[in-house]
Amino acid sequence: MSLTRSDSPVSARQTAAPQFRKPLSVVYVEDAALSHPRTVEILAKLPGATVIRCRDYRDVFNRPHQEPALQKEAQALILAVSDRPRLYEGAPVCQDFGNRNFYYTSDVMNCVFDCEYCYLQGMYPSGHIVVFVNLEDTFRGLDEVLSAKQSAYVCISYDTDLLAFEPLLGYVGKWITFAAERPNLTLELRTKSASASVLRALPVTDRVILALTLSPDTVIRTCEHRTPTLATRLALANEAIDLGWKVRLCFDPILAVHDAKAVYNDMFDEVFRTIPMDRVLDASVGLFRISKEYLKEMRRHRPCAVTCYPYELTDGVYHYPDMIGKPLTELAIARLTEFLPRERIALWDGTD
Ligand code: SF4
Repeated sequence: MSLTRSDSPVSARQTAAPQFRKPLSVVYVEDAALSHPRTVEILAKLPGATVIRCRDYRDVFNRPHQEPALQKEAQALILAVSDRPRLYEGAPVCQDFGNRNFYYTSDVMNCVFDCEYCYLQGMYPSGHIVVFVNLEDTFRGLDEVLSAKQSAYVCISYDTDLLAFEPLLGYVGKWITFAAERPNLTLELRTKSASASVLRALPVTDRVILALTLSPDTVIRTCEHRTPTLATRLALANEAIDLGWKVRLCFDPILAVHDAKAVYNDMFDEVFRTIPMDRVLDASVGLFRISKEYLKEMRRHRPCAVTCYPYELTDGVYHYPDMIGKPLTELAIARLTEFLPRERIALWDGTD
C-alpha cells in the first residue's frame, strides 16, 4: 500500500478522483495516527484503498465549501487521534430514559447510512467519516466519570451507526468487553443495521441495550437511504431477543409523511405480528425535532420534504405543530401500550 503525502486539503482533493468512487476507497490518515496499531488493522481491511497522509484531520473534514450530500455518495475515511476522550454529556433533545449521568461518545463521526433527516448533516461540515483510533482514551475518560459519579449510562452510537462499522472497526466488541468489567455502567447501542452475522459474532451481555430504530417501509425507502428494510430489522430484533440481548424498540423520529396515521398503524401491526413484545425491554417514541442551527445547514445542503417542512420553533428547536405531531405520538403510545406498560415507553413530543 502506498502512502501519498498531502499536507493541504487542496492537494488531497486533487489526488482523489471526482465523485462517486467506491465508498471508503480513499483513506486519509492523520500524521499522529499513522503508526497506531488500530490504523494498521483498519488499513489491512481496506487493501485497495488509496491512502493519503494529512497533518490534521480537520484539514480535510473541516475545510470550507464542502458538499456533504454529494460526499455521502463516495465517503472517504479519515483516521485520526483525538486529543481528548470523546465523551460528552447528553443534550436536552436526547432521550435519557430517566437515567442520571447520561453521556454519549463520539469516537466515530458520520455514518454509512444516509437519512435525509439526520442531524449530522447540520452538525458536520463534511459527509466523510472520521474514526478516532485511540478508543482507549475514551475508556479512560469514562473510568474517571465512573469514579466521580459512581454510575453512568452511555450511548455509544449517537453520531454514527457503530454496529454498521463493526466488521471494519470492532468497536462494539471492545465496548462490550469494557462494560462487562464495570457493573455500574450501562451502554445503549442504537442502530438501523441488521446484520445477523455481525450480531452473532458479539458476546451477549445484559450491560448493553440494543436499541433498534424501526420505521415504516415508506419512510425507509424515501428518507433512510441504504438502510435495511423493516422486515430485515425485525428479523434482527427477533434474533437478538433469542440470543439474549436486551432489546429496545425506537420509533424515533416519527415523520409527518403523507397519510402518516395509516402508515404508522400498518408498521405497528407488522412489528406486533413479528416481535414477541413480552420479551422487549422497552420502547421510545419521538417526533422529528432539530435545532435551529442544524436545520439551517440541512436546508442549505439538502433541501427536501423533511428539511423544508414549515416547523414551529420553540427555544431554538424546530418541531411539528401540535395539531400535526400530537395525533402521531398518541397513536404510537396507544399502539405500544397494547403490549408494554406506559412507564416502559419513553416519549419525546416537545412537551417533556
Ligand atoms: S442511521 Fe442514524 S446516524 Fe446514520 S444517517 Fe441515519 S440518522 Fe444519521
